[in-house]
Amino acid sequence: MRRIRQPGPLPSVGSLLNEAGYLGLQERFPRVLVVQAIREQLARERQSGLSGDEDRLSAVGALLADWAAPRLRPVINGTGVVLHTNLGRAPLSRAAAAAAAEIAAGYSNLELDLETGRRGDRSALVEDLLRRLTGAEAALVVNNNAAAVLLALTALGARREVVVSRGQQVEIGGSFRMPDVMRLSGARMVEVGTTNRTRAADYEAAVGPRTAALLRVHTSNFRVTGFTETPPLEELARVARRHGILLLDDLGSGALEPIFDEPTVAESLANADLTTFSGDKLLGGPQAGIALGKSATVGRLVKHPLARAVRVDKMTLAALEVTLRERLLGRASPVASMLSATPTELRRRAGFLMVRLEERGVEASLVEAESAFGGGSLPGRGLPTVLLALDGRASRLAAALRRGAPPVLARVEGNRCCIDLRTVLPGEDDALQDAIEAAVLASRGR
Ligand SMILES: *Cc1c(COP(=O)(O)O)cnc(C)c1O
Repeated sequence: MRRIRQPGPLPSVGSLLNEAGYLGLQERFPRVLVVQAIREQLARERQSGLSGDEDRLSAVGALLADWAAPRLRPVINGTGVVLHTNLGRAPLSRAAAAAAAEIAAGYSNLELDLETGRRGDRSALVEDLLRRLTGAEAALVVNNNAAAVLLALTALGARREVVVSRGQQVEIGGSFRMPDVMRLSGARMVEVGTTNRTRAADYEAAVGPRTAALLRVHTSNFRVTGFTETPPLEELARVARRHGILLLDDLGSGALEPIFDEPTVAESLANADLTTFSGDKLLGGPQAGIALGKSATVGRLVKHPLARAVRVDKMTLAALEVTLRERLLGRASPVASMLSATPTELRRRAGFLMVRLEERGVEASLVEAESAFGGGSLPGRGLPTVLLALDGRASRLAAALRRGAPPVLARVEGNRCCIDLRTVLPGEDDALQDAIEAAVLASRGR
């Protein structure tokens, strides 16, 4: 770029606005925005002492283009982490996403009973589906599982005591820490047992006149091995029943069918008074918190004023309804399809991509590895996969892929930049190939 040292004073914003190039910008962007961009550019020039008329116009244009560029963008997930929190967890099915878009763009019967014309309840729209799928008596959907747990503890345990094991004081993703949520709810947390061992008798001994509930928290994102003990949920249910208190179960993922040793929704409902889990983990739906359980218990959550503050919005409900119906009809969610992809299928897909890349002069090979569940699900459980490993400097390639269009998130394994096709959605392979070619060129060019 041509840089010249400006000897005299910088031009005024007003005079620049009347120049041809800036008039052109005002045809594409609001005048106030062009003014802001000019001011910002002039301030930079004042600081650096560098300026030039041609550079200035293109710099102002670049600022405007940057401000107008989309920030939240689709990316290709080549990490193999299926429920990647930083990448938005579960991708929705096409139908679920379309339903959210359609409901978002218009009016809907969100809180209106079309039969009677009376006011309806938004959560009731999916309650039938949830009951049919899980056998639960009642259901409530809120903003996310953190909200469901907070609401449950507030509505059922405020100013009373809730007993929880020291081995289950989990932190989920940095901001959700069970002791903090407990404090926020106004429930007093009574800790029992030790980090590695807690018995039913420990819970029993902690129950007193002020106890409202026992709480089990699924240790969804870590694994304690060795000398450990946790009472089965049935035993906790027996303790709760004996003392006439509630058993609350924060499941985290909410596996409807058994997968590895993840606790299932059915097992939880058979024992607990209230079960909570996320909509966007193993269920494969939108971000949501699902609370299931006895009518009396769920009813107390519904009536609590906090329920209004954490209520679910119409786009989420639309996507969740479709996700649940697809589940009921036996159609696999994108998350389920990714989880069930076999190493043979993944090898074929990666091999096909490798051959096509080789034809374009990009060298790669196949490497056996493991994909992860992610999103605080099934820690330490890997799914066998086959990676496409690209030749070249791993960190430089990964950065070039990330900065590409569309951005591709790769994973660096054994000092190589790798793509796990498990999390690359069907239909993304061509875009991925182009992105890899572009990234390889960009990283060679430096
Ligand atoms: C993931 C998780 C949460 C938080 O759920 P969000 O839907 O992310 O709010 C809470 N508890 C457990 C056990 C979890 O695994």
